[in-house]
Amino acid sequence: MSATREVVLDILGNIIDPISNKDIVTAGMVRALTVADGAIRFVLEIDPARSKAMEPVQQQAQQELEALDGVTSVSVVMTAHSAAPAPPDLGAGKKAEPTGPQKIPGIDRIIAVASGKGGVGKSTVSANLAAALAAEGRKVGLLDADVYGPSQPRMLGISGRPSSPDGTTILPLRNHGVTLMSIGLMTREDEAVVWRGPMLMGALQQMMSQVQWGALDILIVDLPPGTGDVQMTLAQKAEVTGVVVVSTPQDVALIDARKALDMFDKLGTPVIGMIENMSTHICSQCGHEEHVFGHGGVTAEAEKLNAPFMGEIPLHIDIRLASDGGAPIVVSKPNSKQAQAFRTIARKMIDDGHA
Ligand code: ADP
Repeated sequence: MSATREVVLDILGNIIDPISNKDIVTAGMVRALTVADGAIRFVLEIDPARSKAMEPVQQQAQQELEALDGVTSVSVVMTAHSAAPAPPDLGAGKKAEPTGPQKIPGIDRIIAVASGKGGVGKSTVSANLAAALAAEGRKVGLLDADVYGPSQPRMLGISGRPSSPDGTTILPLRNHGVTLMSIGLMTREDEAVVWRGPMLMGALQQMMSQVQWGALDILIVDLPPGTGDVQMTLAQKAEVTGVVVVSTPQDVALIDARKALDMFDKLGTPVIGMIENMSTHICSQCGHEEHVFGHGGVTAEAEKLNAPFMGEIPLHIDIRLASDGGAPIVVSKPNSKQAQAFRTIARKMIDDGHA
C-alpha cells in the first residue's frame, strides 16, 4: 500500500492509546499530519506524565508507517502538553476543561501575529492592524505577548499600570479603539526582564485568563519573534483562529519566517497568510521608491509555501514616527498611502472571514 493521508490515518486509527483505550486518532492525539513526497510527519500530543507509556505507541506508528510503499521518512514528534495549571474560572461556577486549547470567554477570534526574526515590524503591523480593524467597526483587543521587548504600550500611547480592583481580575487599558494588555504594563519600561520558562507561561496565561477583555470580536496577539515557548503555550492553551506571519523581503528574514510557519503547521494553528513589511522604501522628501530589502520575496515565498499573501506595507519614516509618537499611522495619518496599506489588509481579513 502506498502512503496517502487516508492510508496513514487508517493505520494510526488502529493504534490504541493504552491509557484511554481509544485509538490515537479518535483520542485527538495526532496533530499537524503532513504526507508529502514519501515523507510523513505528525505530532503526537501527550500528557508528560505519560511519556514513558507512549513510547511503544510512537514506535509502533513509526514502524508501521515506514513499512508503507514509497515512504522515505517518518517523523513522529511527541509534544508534552504540560499538566494543566489551575483552569481559568469561567464564572457561574463553571471550570474550563483542563486540557487542550480553550476559547477565552467573550472573545470570538484570536489572531496571532508572528515573525521569524525580530525587527521586521511585527509589532508595528499588530498595532496598525488592531487600529484598522477597530476603524472597520470591530471590537478589538491587543495582547502584547512579546515578553522580550513589549512595545505596544508605547505604540498605542498607553502608560500606567492596569488596575485590579478585586486582586484577581485585571482591567486592561484602552486607546485608539483598542483594548490593550501588555507585559510591558506590568514592568518598568527601563527594566530588563529576564523571564524563566515557567514564569513566562504564568504571565501569558494570566494575561489570557485574568484580564477582563469584555466582549471582543478579535484579540490580536503580538508574539515574540521566533519559535519559542510563548508560541507553543499560546497554541496549546488557547484556541487560536489563525496566525499572520510578517516578514521583510530579504532571504535571511524569509528563512526564519519559513521556520515559524513550519512550527505553526506542526502545532495545528491555521496560517491566515503572510505580510511583506518594509516592502518598498518611499522617500519622504521626493516620493522616490526604492527596494531597500528587495521586493516581492514574501509573495514568492507565500506561493511556494502555499500560504495566502495578504499584502505589502512600504518602508516609510512616517510609520516609525507615528509608532514612536503613540498613535499608529492608521490613526494619526488615516488618509496617507501607508495607512491605506494597513486598511486594505484589514479589509481583506474581514472579506476572507478571518476578522
Ligand atoms: P518587531 O516587532 O518585528 O521587532 P517593530 O514593529 O518593533 O518590529 O519594528 C522595528 C522598528 O522598525 C521600529 O522602530 C518601527 O517603528 C520600525 N518600522 C517597522 N515597520 C516599518 C515601516 N514599514 N516603515 C518604517 N519603519 C518601520
